[in-house]
Amino acid sequence: MDSIQYPIKGSCQCGQVSYELLEEPSMVVACHCKECQKLSTSAFSITAMVSADRVKFNGVMSDWSRTCDSGNISAAKFCPSCGNRLYHFNPEVPEQLKLKPSNLSDTRIIKPVAHVWVSEKQDWYQIPEGVKVFEGQP
Ligand SMILES: [Zn+2]
Ligand SMILES: [Zn+2]
Repeated sequence: MDSIQYPIKGSCQCGQVSYELLEEPSMVVACHCKECQKLSTSAFSITAMVSADRVKFNGVMSDWSRTCDSGNISAAKFCPSCGNRLYHFNPEVPEQLKLKPSNLSDTRIIKPVAHVWVSEKQDWYQIPEGVKVFEGQP
């Protein structure tokens, strides 16, 4: 199988926000916490850790943020017209983005190498072999 070629283009569901990811994420993680289940409208969410200067966004994004149990702020950017989530970040660490990579054109990127918050995971989902597993926040 060919390897993933960078840059990769991505866009929200309606296309109002588009972006380009210039290089491979440092890590791709699946989070099984209840917040991520709600966010993804699924059993877990997938996040790609990338440097902010390695993604170029176009279009208008809205903001929302919440305080995590850790006390950190989780800020979110999303498309105001279709609601698709683009990325999360901690405002105290703005150089690190937690990209929601499922809207990239090459979806092979959404292959987590680590699973976190498996203490809240749905019973029917079996963690694949060969990935790192964390009960909570690593
Ligand atoms: Zn949109
Ligand atoms: Zn989570």
